[in-house]
Amino acid sequence: MLDKTIHPLVIVGGGPAGLLAAIKGSQLNINGLLLEGSDVIGGQISQLYPSKEIEDLHDTPTILAAKYIEKLIEEYQSTSKSIAIIKKTRVREFFRHEDYIELVTDKSRYYARDVIIASGLGAYVPRKMRVPNDDLPEIIYSIENYIPYANKRVVVLGGGDSALDGAKMLVKNGALVTLVHRREEFRGNPETISGLTEIDIKKPYVPVSVLEMNNKVSGITLKNVETEDQVTISCDYIFVNFGFQPERNTFAFEKFGAGIKVDENLLVAPHIYVIGDAAGYIDKVRRIYPIHTEIDRVFAQITASY
Ligand SMILES: Cc1cc2nc3c(=O)[nH]c(=O)nc-3n(C[C@H](O)[C@H](O)[C@H](O)COP(=O)(O)OP(=O)(O)OC[C@H]3O[C@@H](n4cnc5c(N)ncnc54)[C@H](O)[C@@H]3O)c2cc1C
Repeated sequence: MLDKTIHPLVIVGGGPAGLLAAIKGSQLNINGLLLEGSDVIGGQISQLYPSKEIEDLHDTPTILAAKYIEKLIEEYQSTSKSIAIIKKTRVREFFRHEDYIELVTDKSRYYARDVIIASGLGAYVPRKMRVPNDDLPEIIYSIENYIPYANKRVVVLGGGDSALDGAKMLVKNGALVTLVHRREEFRGNPETISGLTEIDIKKPYVPVSVLEMNNKVSGITLKNVETEDQVTISCDYIFVNFGFQPERNTFAFEKFGAGIKVDENLLVAPHIYVIGDAAGYIDKVRRIYPIHTEIDRVFAQITASY
């Protein structure tokens, strides 16, 4: 049966703005959802600079970026959590109806009385290899279950922790792993794979092209960045760990600067508010501290309308 529950509030985006809004909404016991496109909460902070310090939070002393998001998640956990967080759910478009707003995601539709757009710089999508055939289905960007890769030949690309952790887990689950990195030094902790002699390491190599047979990955050609020598490896899967980049969507609303044009009430349309980096107005500062004031203004209007 079609679930056409009209949620009092749906927040789009789980960066600091969306998370702070979910905390506020849950403190006020407003029911609803936060829809985050990726499987990571924290937006730019988690995706782009978790190891940097944030200095100008105004209400909080200097704090490591990753710790700041942990602190917000703890704060959310201490509320009623009446705004439930749903990850891996990317909103593609909105339809305005007389009494509600319809949000279309990749998987389903949600319905809301009020919407807060907190989509920041955009939804984070995995960086591709940018070589011929890089859209074949056996090219993967995350692994939830390693078991199906047992006895499969998997080329893992990247030198950060996600590549090293992935290579280790694949080997432990019986995959035949080649780890390819463009530099001599790994960015992630090399201890993760120390002692795992089963992993064939290729450094410093970059991908040149993916070989396909019957529309499936059959191998990958790599180039040594120092000697330019090329080598081709047969494989069944390619696990790419090149990080994430934001893909902006202003949902067909008018733009202002880098954001969505809002009025003095932070509204882009009736019942649709925009906060954080996604909001475009004169003197907008793309930092975390102004988000608190924006949230107070939005919730004052939402609660006044009940
Ligand atoms: C390198 C760097 C350093 C910075 N340092 C500081 C600092 O020291 N102090 C400071 O105050 N600010 C700093 N900033 C700015 C700060 O990170 C941003 O102002 C802040 O992250 C904005 O939060 P946001 O929630 O609006 O957007 P974002 O952090 O961009 O989060 C948006 C979230 O929405 C999700 N999303 C997007 N589109 C959709 C969709 N369609 N459906 C579902 N989910 C979606 C994204 O996946 C993401 O999780 C820095 C920024 C950068 C890049």
